[in-house]
Amino acid sequence: MSVLVFVKEPYHLEKRCALLPDNVKIYKRLGATIQVESQIGDTLGFTDQHYIDAGAEIFTDRSAALSTAHAVLSVRPLALEELAQTPQTCCSISFFDPFNSPDKIASLLDNKRSCISMELIPRSTRCQKMDALSSQASLAGYVMVLKAMSNLHKTLPMMMTPAGTLKPAKVFIIGVGVAGLQAIATAKRMGANVIAYDTRPECAQQVQSLGAKFLNIDLGVTESTDQGYAKALSEEQLTLQQQAQADCIADSDIVITTAQLFGRKPPLLISNDVILRMKPGSVIVDMAALDGGNVEASVAGETIIYKAVKIVGDGDWAGEVALDASQMYANNLMALVQDMYNTETSLFTVDAQNDVLKSALVTYNGEVINPILKSQYTKETA
Ligand code: NAD
Repeated sequence: MSVLVFVKEPYHLEKRCALLPDNVKIYKRLGATIQVESQIGDTLGFTDQHYIDAGAEIFTDRSAALSTAHAVLSVRPLALEELAQTPQTCCSISFFDPFNSPDKIASLLDNKRSCISMELIPRSTRCQKMDALSSQASLAGYVMVLKAMSNLHKTLPMMMTPAGTLKPAKVFIIGVGVAGLQAIATAKRMGANVIAYDTRPECAQQVQSLGAKFLNIDLGVTESTDQGYAKALSEEQLTLQQQAQADCIADSDIVITTAQLFGRKPPLLISNDVILRMKPGSVIVDMAALDGGNVEASVAGETIIYKAVKIVGDGDWAGEVALDASQMYANNLMALVQDMYNTETSLFTVDAQNDVLKSALVTYNGEVINPILKSQYTKETA
């Protein structure tokens, strides 16, 4: 019988949780033993008894539990010392942050531990149920609009009252991936006038189908990867984009930036001189603030005021709606574990030939598996 261990989150400020009591019954149907660290559900209001009633075993000795695990599952990755406490056959599964964790990858290779990164789940129809990046990004899009609203000194919808007419807020959303689309839908529902832009031309139709306007900027050819991610623009294209969107930014009450480049630093899209042109009291939300930022003035993890414009760089967007974020993440994990279960042996099995794992595995048996990481590590060691 495989032992799946769910630890209390390694990062003390993490409010999300990798397992809800409802998931336990489904895992048990696979034939797994579910071990859950005491107080795992504290941030969401679930007690140990909720997990026990669902069929889980509670532990308090984390080292002992790690030493018998076939898989350790969490939102954030385990610390290096804890990874080393797991048996060689164990696989850790979390948001591993694979492009910023060279020390951890080196340690996984040295200790021959397997590790799955939820950021590396392929963008395919088969993997939609496991796609934790999308589930969390969608909630982030919603939360960023709420944050912008609560920082703005005006209403989003138009209001016609005897005391005068209030104009609808103008919202500009840059980057129309999963988060951007949800942000557009949320701002539209609140009655704002929404304009959006993305370098991928196919986004125009998606934006219009949500009732928003697409800002047309002719950048020439822009490329995407086979997974649908945008490729980086050339320096000239980026300058052209910054110039072409400057008037729209200056005219907006709220700007939300969600532009990312998978595995790379996000592009810088709003420079300080453009912020100077915005109305006092306007709000910018920079989704990428923790990773370097789309906005020159944003500060990682903070909301600041720069020249009378509020710039929200808080990060941890999905954590603001931690219950829903946990439910979606826990379901993503469960779909992955179900896919990994060997139907003949009824055991949790790490099969490096599984198409999902060919991408999602960071390391397995002393080797880097994900092709992007593998080419990076081959270059570095050559
Ligand atoms: P992401 O988080 O990597 O990036 C967010 C957005 O930023 C993207 O739309 C990207 O085009 C945009 N961007 C990059 N540089 C920019 C710039 N300079 N200016 C403006 N925008 C810029 O993307 P994501 O949200 O993860 O989604 C990427 C794609 O993958 C989308 O097409 C999405 O529909 C697709 N997707 C497919 C599946 C699936 O098939 N299962 C699942 C999820 C997402």
